[in-house]
Amino acid sequence: MPSEKYADLHLHTFYSDGTFSPSEVVRRARTLRLSAVSITDHDSVEGLEEALQAAGDSIEILPGVELTAAFHGREVHLLGYGFQIKNPSFSSLLGQRRLAREDRIQKIMERLHDRGIDVSLEEVRRAAGQGALGRPHLAHVLVNKGVVRSVDEAFQRYLGDHAPCFIKTATLTVPEAVRQIHHAGGVTVLAHPFHIVEDSWIPECVEAGVEGLEVYHSEQQGAVAEKYRRIAVKHNLLITGGSDCHGLGRGKKPLIGTVCVPYALVEDLKTAIREKTDV
Ligand code: AMP
Ligand code: FE
Ligand code: FE
Ligand code: ZN
Repeated sequence: MPSEKYADLHLHTFYSDGTFSPSEVVRRARTLRLSAVSITDHDSVEGLEEALQAAGDSIEILPGVELTAAFHGREVHLLGYGFQIKNPSFSSLLGQRRLAREDRIQKIMERLHDRGIDVSLEEVRRAAGQGALGRPHLAHVLVNKGVVRSVDEAFQRYLGDHAPCFIKTATLTVPEAVRQIHHAGGVTVLAHPFHIVEDSWIPECVEAGVEGLEVYHSEQQGAVAEKYRRIAVKHNLLITGGSDCHGLGRGKKPLIGTVCVPYALVEDLKTAIREKTDV
């Protein structure tokens, strides 16, 4: 009997807010006997080259990225898959997005300052290493300074989407993010839809050109995933899934491989990508 093939299509490395190197992700994926993975760092594709090298012929690596876009006065995450990573306008977009991240962190730092908490950009940069700056790095600085006891507490009290120091990153709109991913030959998937407040907003993303829904995710189990599966079928969307593993530190065991999709869904995704490239 042929063994089933599975893929984890949502993984982070230290090129954004994860802790693993791309090689470590590939090593773990191989140990877990995954057939394919996608590294989907926030606003960065810097991990791809290393992942491809580490993988060789042993495991398939699908180019991926996670973009943040403005939506209904808040933010939505979009996954791009199968784009040409050397596409100049896409590279330039990612560069701009990383600068916007730095800008936003500074604005959040000003809000913290107003509350008597002083953090320098250097401290956040040090916490991020080579990664695209994000709130988790700032959260770590707050933990190290003893302002809060945990990253979770930092998000709850200060940094989370509904907390007092929240600032939106995004001037990038959903249609523009989709356009840029398409222009680079990729397809766009709405990440962890449970994060967006209203299900009725999903069709709006579809109208903007989003072709897929991340139905399976570590924070969308059982009936919730089933609800999104139905929505995906209703709108004729590609179905994807992944663990959204950020490495060590959030929970005890890294999430990689805990949410996988059958390889047939990767085939569907690759067919859609090929159709994009053929046009
Ligand atoms: P940013 O990219 O700067 O908007 O930060 C968003 C990232 O922060 C997400 O991708 C998660 O990795 C992380 N995050 C969001 N909410 C929480 C939370 N409550 N606790 C820990 N990490 C979180
Ligand atoms: Fe993240
Ligand atoms: Fe996300
Ligand atoms: Zn993610």
